Parts: sequence; structure tokens; C-alpha cells
Amino acid sequence: MTAELRAYQVHNCPGCGEDRSHPVNLGDPPLRRCDRCSVVYAPQYADPSEVYVEGYLFGETPFGLDLMHPIFQAFLAQAAATRLRLIEKVVGPNASFLDVGCGTGELLAVARARGWTTTGVEPVSQSAEYAIQQRGLQVIPDLLERSGLPEHSFDVVSAFHVVEHMIDAQSFLRTLSRWAKPGGHVVVEVPNWRSFHRRNAGPGWEGLRPLEHLGHYGPETLKATMRRAGLRPVLVRTPTFLWARQTLDHRLDALGLYKWKGRSRPQRVFGRPGQLKGEAVIVPRRLTALALAGLGATYERLGVGQVVLAIAEVPPPTSEPSARSAGDPSATQ
Ligand SMILES: [Zn+2]
Repeated sequence: MTAELRAYQVHNCPGCGEDRSHPVNLGDPPLRRCDRCSVVYAPQYADPSEVYVEGYLFGETPFGLDLMHPIFQAFLAQAAATRLRLIEKVVGPNASFLDVGCGTGELLAVARARGWTTTGVEPVSQSAEYAIQQRGLQVIPDLLERSGLPEHSFDVVSAFHVVEHMIDAQSFLRTLSRWAKPGGHVVVEVPNWRSFHRRNAGPGWEGLRPLEHLGHYGPETLKATMRRAGLRPVLVRTPTFLWARQTLDHRLDALGLYKWKGRSRPQRVFGRPGQLKGEAVIVPRRLTALALAGLGATYERLGVGQVVLAIAEVPPPTSEPSARSAGDPSATQ
């Protein structure tokens, strides 16, 4: 099916627009690294109109994921709680939240339960309809630019796992900024190019997603891309999503420990039989769970966790120097 897709060449770095790059030893054809800003990017991508289609988040297309699987749903609720705890560190609770590309609304549902006023936009109408009908969320089934939502009106504008799909990340970040209040925040999350996960998995890295993921960012390159888009990064973290009822294999996956996954001896030594949503699974023993959580915390300290979550402040609109400095002395503070 992939062979029938139209692929387009990427000529410029999605992070900064530069056209000079050199090959990276990963991917087929190999990824490129920008000579100017070091963002790694895919040399080609599929026609977005063939990727982001109905069924994208329901496991019904060659791309996308089956978000509706009960274990994936449980994972997303846990990940949402981790994400919101980080956001609340910077922004405080109970503010207004706009999630761009909200999918089926897992993050918004958790944010609403924590007291936030929530709105979503989602261009794939099947996902948007699910968020509206099944979760009772306010979601506009369209692109942000066509949503009709007032600009400069949200405390937080977020986009989880969207930036890596963008051919021009700066332009996308500027668009997000336009819907945040001056002094508000833009929050984005991407797979972590610098993750232990990526280094250990090689071509099997889940963040690679050929033809779909264009830009690959680590904490530093994401921060620099946000600065180029006029944002001020205030908190950049690399969490690994581990949670209480996760199976041993899912934890090993999250931590990039593929070599241990599914092997019977480590499963017997480090795991024990358990239940997850009615399925028989192997869960870690207590000490193993503690050790894996410790490893996740170490990854975070080293900046090599599963994803990069970055929170940046949207500066107040740049004052017109000629008009303001001439007419309003207080403008310069
Ligand atoms: Zn670049």
C-alpha cells in the first residue's frame, strides 16, 4: 500500500529552512542533519492528504495508530496526567487550554477533570466526532486556522506529536502562538531524537515513522527551533511514560530495552503473572518496577527519555518601536 503513496522530497530543514545538510546513518533513504541548526529530518514524506485520513487513529490505515485499544487508552490517560503535571508547574491549574490536533480527546478529558477549561481542534473528523460524542468535549473538526476560534485567547495552546509531522515547524509554532494570550504558553511534545530508545533501537525506533515524521528533535534542537519562532522556552523535559499497571514488556519498550523484551528467562526472574483490562499479562515484580522507575528518572536527568516536552512563553506582541517609544514613554518600562 505504501508503494502507491505519492512521496515528496524534503529540500529544506523543517527546523530552520536551511538547504545544506549531510546524511545521518539511519533510515532508507538516510535521514539528513541540517548544517545550520542540527535538526535531523527525513528526505521525503507522503502526501498528507493520503496520511491524515479517516481511520488514522483507529488502526484502519497504513499510517496512524490504534488509539482505541484499551491498553493504549489507559496509557494515554496516564501520559496525560504526567503532561498536565508538568504544565501546571509552569502555568498553574484551572486555566484555559487549547489542544491542537487533539485526536480523540484523551488529554483534554484529563485536563477538564483537573479543572481546566478545554477546547480542541482536530482535522480528522472521525477523531473529532469521537471526542465530541463520546467524551462531551468542545472540539472543532477543522484546522486551527479555519476553526473560527479567537486569536490571543488561550492560556495554553498545545500540540502533542504534531511538530514532527510539519514541513515548516517554525511556521506551525508561530501559528500556535497566535492563539495564545500574550504571556501565555505554547506546549509541544515530540519523540526524543536524543533518547536512549532511539540510540538502542536503530531502524526499529518507534519515532522514525518513515514518510510520516519529517523532523526529529532532541531537547536542544527543539528549544532552538522554538526560539527561532519567537518563543521563550521555560521548561524542557524528557519524560518516559511509566505507570503502575503497565506490563513488563511495555515498560521495557518505553525505556528502549528491546533486547530484554519477550525473553522468557528475564520475564520469569523480573516479572510475575498479572491482569490488565481482562488480559493475562506479565507485570514486573515490585523491585523491578522500582528499578525501572529509577532508570526512567535517570533518563530524564540525562535528557534521554522517551519524548521531549517543551513549554515556552509567548512574549507580548513586539511593540512598534517608532510608534510606542515616541508616544508612550512607559512602553519601555
Ligand atoms: Zn536547520
